[in-house]
Amino acid sequence: MIVIFLGPPGAGKGTQAAHIVETYKIPQLSTGDMFRAAVKDETPVGLKVKAVLDAGDLVSDDIVAALVEERIEQDDCADGFLLDGFPRTVVQAEALDAMLTKKELAVDAVIELRVDEGALLDRLRKRIKETGGARSDDNEETFKKRLEVYADQTAPLIPFYEKQGNLKAVDGMGDVEAVSAEIDAILSEIRR
Ligand code: AMP
Repeated sequence: MIVIFLGPPGAGKGTQAAHIVETYKIPQLSTGDMFRAAVKDETPVGLKVKAVLDAGDLVSDDIVAALVEERIEQDDCADGFLLDGFPRTVVQAEALDAMLTKKELAVDAVIELRVDEGALLDRLRKRIKETGGARSDDNEETFKKRLEVYADQTAPLIPFYEKQGNLKAVDGMGDVEAVSAEIDAILSEIRR
């Protein structure tokens, strides 16, 4: 099962990803986590993208696509995977389709976590409190920039996947369990 999570920063993608990983035994492929690890380890990719991450901008499509293409070749992805934070542009979505077609695979579901823009900043403040601001891009200024980038570059994926017939919108404003239950209802349909 190949699932994509779509939604602005702070929508709860990471939280819900943990639920899916546990329930469906597929790995979570978070490009944000991969980049943060690369920055921490000071790999060539990490050194290249650090400033981009800190500014809340997007890493270039070719770097991200290469990273994902390599990752989905690994054994743990054989039964599917959850993409969290990728694709983030239409160019990336097209690159993903091309990668999957080569492997005779296709996306099964795109779950869009819908949230009130206004609630996102409150969620961010909570996350900063909980994590002690562990993420260098978790500050209000960068967060606002990430929201803008989402609206400009990632939101066009909504009509893109709607056209493909894969988009499933979920109300992301409920409590964690309610959102998980909505996601389960969608994914159990697909499994059949
Ligand atoms: P995230 O943890 O998904 O919010 O990602 C953190 C940061 O990593 C983003 O603000 C971008 O700078 C970078 N990033 C993660 N995924 C992508 C992607 N698919 N395309 C471009 N940049 C990305």
